Amino acid sequence: MVSVDEKLEPIFQEVLRRNAGEQEFHQAVREVLESLGRVIAKHPRYLENALIERICEPERQIIFRVPWVDDQGQVQINRGFRVQFNSALGPYKGGIRFHPSVNVGIIKFLGFEQTFKNALTGMPIGGGKGGSDFNPRGRSDGEIMRFCQSFMTELHRHIGEYTDVPAGDIGVGGREIGYMFGQYKRLTNRYEAGVLTGKALFYGGSRARTEATGYGNTYFVQAMLATKGQSFDGKKVVVSGSGNVALYTIEKVQSFGGKVMAVSDSSGYIVDESGIDLALLKEIKEVRRGRMSDYLRAKGKGVYFVNADAGSIWDVPCDVAMPSATQNELTGKDARKLVANGVTAVGEGANMPSTPDAIRIFQEAGVLFAPGKAANAGGVATSALEMQQNASRDSWTFDQTEARLATIMRNIHDACAETADEYGAPGDYVLGANIAGFVRVAQAMDALGVI
Ligand code: GLU
Repeated sequence: MVSVDEKLEPIFQEVLRRNAGEQEFHQAVREVLESLGRVIAKHPRYLENALIERICEPERQIIFRVPWVDDQGQVQINRGFRVQFNSALGPYKGGIRFHPSVNVGIIKFLGFEQTFKNALTGMPIGGGKGGSDFNPRGRSDGEIMRFCQSFMTELHRHIGEYTDVPAGDIGVGGREIGYMFGQYKRLTNRYEAGVLTGKALFYGGSRARTEATGYGNTYFVQAMLATKGQSFDGKKVVVSGSGNVALYTIEKVQSFGGKVMAVSDSSGYIVDESGIDLALLKEIKEVRRGRMSDYLRAKGKGVYFVNADAGSIWDVPCDVAMPSATQNELTGKDARKLVANGVTAVGEGANMPSTPDAIRIFQEAGVLFAPGKAANAGGVATSALEMQQNASRDSWTFDQTEARLATIMRNIHDACAETADEYGAPGDYVLGANIAGFVRVAQAMDALGVI
């Protein structure tokens, strides 16, 4: 069992005390602190000036009321959040999540992770995250628009292309970004394209942004497999989730010759023995905004559906697991099952989808394990490419943008692997990602003085 170094333990205890009840935030901080023992042993100067304490404390946290009127004329109230975690490397950058589970602890864990992830991309972006406990499921287009407008009516005073640049996350895609951008433009009377990323192509978006997180995770796992002389070709793959991360993971895995056996949403999972039919899945998820059972109805033969409360997608045997739904979706029990079924690699498309137990089980079993803050960084990296295009009033081709993404993912992979080697833990991508991300943020913070 990994533990927090005794010099760092008081810092962790203080995080627990000051952020009581925020379990996901505790989990994210603990994982990073567990990796930092080796860094402070080598570079004790990082213990000076309360640098690590400052890294664990968001620079600013904004919580606000979001009132809106539903289709029945009833006033609804939600809570909005933006946690501006760290701006040592650039403007705060990170998505907005609309999901009923959202609370300040979840946004803080996401903002904390984002800080190191963004540093790993090598792009000039700090870390932040936002969201609301608004549940978009079953809401009409008009309701979504009014909610987004109300959310932005407050948020607009805290963001800007040099201050904080939000994007999408769970429950926030192109449609929601459009409504938020429209309201920002109206309130500020500025066409400030670089204030939000994930925009549609026809008003300042970047090619390959929608695909980037899933493609990026696939590139990362490809690089990891290559270190063992392996590839995706002929491998059985299970991808949880069915948002843009999952859909474009499936697309890339299939183009690399992998066979995707199963996919899920919050209602349950489907297994398709002949390999997931991506065109059908995209139609159901991107056009109809439908459910997994629609896939079963459309395809029938060779397909089965398991209800979310009747089983876990990780029961499906595979060589590569790519959890791309949400935090803590893959438990220790799931990891044991995957290992028993012979899994050789795991690439996290979602943020913190594996529990600490699951990570330990994978690592002890010698499974190649790519943590989300490295493996899913392709989305935010391409957001930074969108910011670059906006700043230069330019628009790149798909191939040009994807080539940049592929290079960034290769660099992140190599930085994690080399850092793990340097710190005496070859093959430990968790340690490599945490240390490489931390050092970049810490160096910048050190240079900027105590702020
Ligand atoms: N929500 C995504 C993430 O977790 C993307 C953030 C962005 O593009 O700013 O990294």
